[in-house]
Amino acid sequence: MNAAVAAGGESSPRAVARWCAAQGWPVHPLSRGTKTPARNCPACRDGAHAPAGCPCRRAGRWCHGFHAATTDPARIDAWWSEDRFGVGVSCGPAGLVVVDIDAHGGELPSRLRLLPGIPIAADVDLTGLASGFHTLAVLAALHGERSPALDEGTLRVSTPSGGLHVWYRAEPPAGWLSSAGSGRNRALAWQVDVRAYGGYIVAPGTVTRAGAYTAVGRCRTPAPLPAWLAAELTRTGHAADSGDGGDGAGPRWPARTSGHAVAARQRVLRVRPGFPASLGLSGRQEPPAVLLAVLGDLAACAAVPSGAGFTERLNRAAYTVGGLIAAGRLEAGVGERALADAAAWVRPGQSERARRIIAGGLAAGRARPLYVGGRA
Ligand SMILES: [Zn+2]
Ligand SMILES: [Zn+2]
Repeated sequence: MNAAVAAGGESSPRAVARWCAAQGWPVHPLSRGTKTPARNCPACRDGAHAPAGCPCRRAGRWCHGFHAATTDPARIDAWWSEDRFGVGVSCGPAGLVVVDIDAHGGELPSRLRLLPGIPIAADVDLTGLASGFHTLAVLAALHGERSPALDEGTLRVSTPSGGLHVWYRAEPPAGWLSSAGSGRNRALAWQVDVRAYGGYIVAPGTVTRAGAYTAVGRCRTPAPLPAWLAAELTRTGHAADSGDGGDGAGPRWPARTSGHAVAARQRVLRVRPGFPASLGLSGRQEPPAVLLAVLGDLAACAAVPSGAGFTERLNRAAYTVGGLIAAGRLEAGVGERALADAAAWVRPGQSERARRIIAGGLAAGRARPLYVGGRA
């Protein structure tokens, strides 16, 4: 490991690129002084072809940004021979999911878009809520967790604009999709972007005209993605549970054997043996990974007799299930039974309360179909 990169100090871009590649993270050049990919050649600039068919990449050039990313030391040495480029990391193929927290300021969006799928009542005072640091902290608090921004056990990188990148390892071969916190499709939280398949992240040690991207704290290794955050990414449509065959822009494993589905099921089982096996599903059906993940999140409440965010978790689970039903990915009866079964198992004797929460979450979720690529 390059000592200066590891220490969070400044290094030559080539040293940064070599260090990233040594971690198994494919890198691509960023144009000098900026955080955007180095430009395409004139032949590629007009967008006449898809990245997959580009002759430049085969010829070892860097056209098409993260699509060209490599871990090949010879190619890296050639690209960064003059140290004129910054370094981008192609997150999906690197097995990374990076939480990109912004502090842009500006007007708050509607309450529906601060934490998508989590209603915030009109009488809740939002004074002081001003950035992705705040929305992410609220999301974490709903799970009884600390914000990833404070996670000293993983690589964190400060940005020139006062933001923070929190790097996590996506357990292979789990696939997560990128999003922007202001996105109309999928989003995790206002002013929080997700960098995974279909995205890249500026490597620590890169210096732009706006300033440096600097590792903070002591940890230089991405930790495994926390289970609660994986559940939230699933709920908000970031799980890629089908291959799109897309040229490094998306994962390529078969949906039925997705590592994510296996991990989600294990999470359910690990929570407590005896969790209702049916989950409202008939025996021949493979439960969708996304359903297992949301119910697993809910099942975690069973470890304590009350509290533990049961209402919020049940509401969010119902919201996800409603989105799956609206998108035609889950039969309505199956989803509703699974929610009722899980709620009754987690909080026995509260069926009327659970019924009200489920009805509210389902209605909200059905208004936002959850397609494989994200919310409509
Ligand atoms: Zn080209
Ligand atoms: Zn091209």
